Amino acid sequence: MLPYKNYSEKRLQIKEGKLSLVENVKFFLSEIEKKKNLNAFNFVFSDDALIDAKRIEEKIKTGEHGKLAGLVIAVKDVLSIKDKPTTCSSKILKDFNSIYTATAVQRLIDEDAIIIGKTNCDEFAMGSSNENSAFGNVLNPTDITRVPGGSSGGSAAAVAAQLCDVSLGTDTGGSIRQPASFCGVYGLKPTYGRISRFGLTAFASSFDTIGPFATNVEDVALVLEILSGKDELDSTSTDKVVPKFSKNLTLDKKIRIGIAKEYFGKGISPEVKDSIDSIIEKLKENNIEIVKISLPHTEYTIATYYILTTAEASSNLARYDGARYGYRAAQDSNLPDMYKQSRSEGFGKEVKRRIMLGTYVLSAGYYDAYYRKAQKVRRLIKDDFDNAFKNVEVILTPTSPFTAFKIGEKTSDPIEMYLSDIFTTSANLAGIPGINIPTGKNSEGLPIGMQLLANQFNEMDLLKMSYFIENKIL
Ligand code: GLN
Repeated sequence: MLPYKNYSEKRLQIKEGKLSLVENVKFFLSEIEKKKNLNAFNFVFSDDALIDAKRIEEKIKTGEHGKLAGLVIAVKDVLSIKDKPTTCSSKILKDFNSIYTATAVQRLIDEDAIIIGKTNCDEFAMGSSNENSAFGNVLNPTDITRVPGGSSGGSAAAVAAQLCDVSLGTDTGGSIRQPASFCGVYGLKPTYGRISRFGLTAFASSFDTIGPFATNVEDVALVLEILSGKDELDSTSTDKVVPKFSKNLTLDKKIRIGIAKEYFGKGISPEVKDSIDSIIEKLKENNIEIVKISLPHTEYTIATYYILTTAEASSNLARYDGARYGYRAAQDSNLPDMYKQSRSEGFGKEVKRRIMLGTYVLSAGYYDAYYRKAQKVRRLIKDDFDNAFKNVEVILTPTSPFTAFKIGEKTSDPIEMYLSDIFTTSANLAGIPGINIPTGKNSEGLPIGMQLLANQFNEMDLLKMSYFIENKIL
């Protein structure tokens, strides 16, 4: 067990000499070793982490430290770290080493965080169960016969199993929030553009976001604060002022919560529904105004998401040709065959399915019927949220219709798997922030999660309400 409940306690303990940072890192390394069966990490940076721990411990003692000094962080293996491997859990990037560091990771390092390793995920972040990884499945720490969710399954499992303090994941359609829900931790997807994507391997560039997993809201807020802000290396990053998220968590204003009927229809497990209903009751008892709202285009989210993201993926993944990065098939007769064979052998099944779907929806005869139409529906979904946020600051929904499912349970039916994302993809279509809050366990002891959504760039209200729920309701 960790002797602290959040980062501020940890740093104080280090400063007062009650906690050795080197011992703390050794503890994490030994837990990673002990829980190797979870398969949460693709790479562990033991030596570097211990060297950093020693150096940063000194800095904390002299007071010349960064804002995350000694926070031990694991990073999803789709984010680049200079001179370290970045595989995206794909055979096609086997043996590829990054030549620069992602801005998000660099910002953590600059504030004296310790990067302990890179976490397993679905190949190129495509999946909802971490069963699409060339490094094998990640197991759910609560029940190892079940999936941790995906695609950031390793990052969620690593925080849940206490293999690090915090981790970074990415969320294109739910890949932070859904695994956070399955593993029982907090996970935040920021507004699109809040955090630089420079150094993140692109899946669907107009949806991709980076965000933190943690065991508590304060740590989520602190890390978000460091990660956010303009970056010249990503033109879609915003220069909007970054609030001091971690310093303003108290609920000091009226925040209304919207409940959309479209998110509580059939298909939700009764235990998930009961858990969320009981939170809503407690919120009412605490004088939080609950407003009924409607998001009428919800039923189109999954179809829209899978048309647009596969289209973007088919273009983004064209660069893996066997010549420029990573894996090259043993084929030397001619160039086109070398490309084809490298891609056929290097990509896994789900990634190939998405490249084919995406190529199809963009093809000359079908562009208008699929891609263009989906772009229009994306706007309608965004309009739904714009309307809703005229009357409420935050929207409350389940994160996933069900709790963690058994390994193999949904692999034979991709549509069934895609439905895991039914409540999360809308936030990416609309570019708005969302968070998973663990609300309790079902009768089998499996974590249940609830999602809060807010308007673009309103992470502050999202975090205030999350902090209130964490401290007053749960
Ligand atoms: N599960 C979704 C998908 O497979 C979301 C992935 C993600 O957010 N990276 O596309």
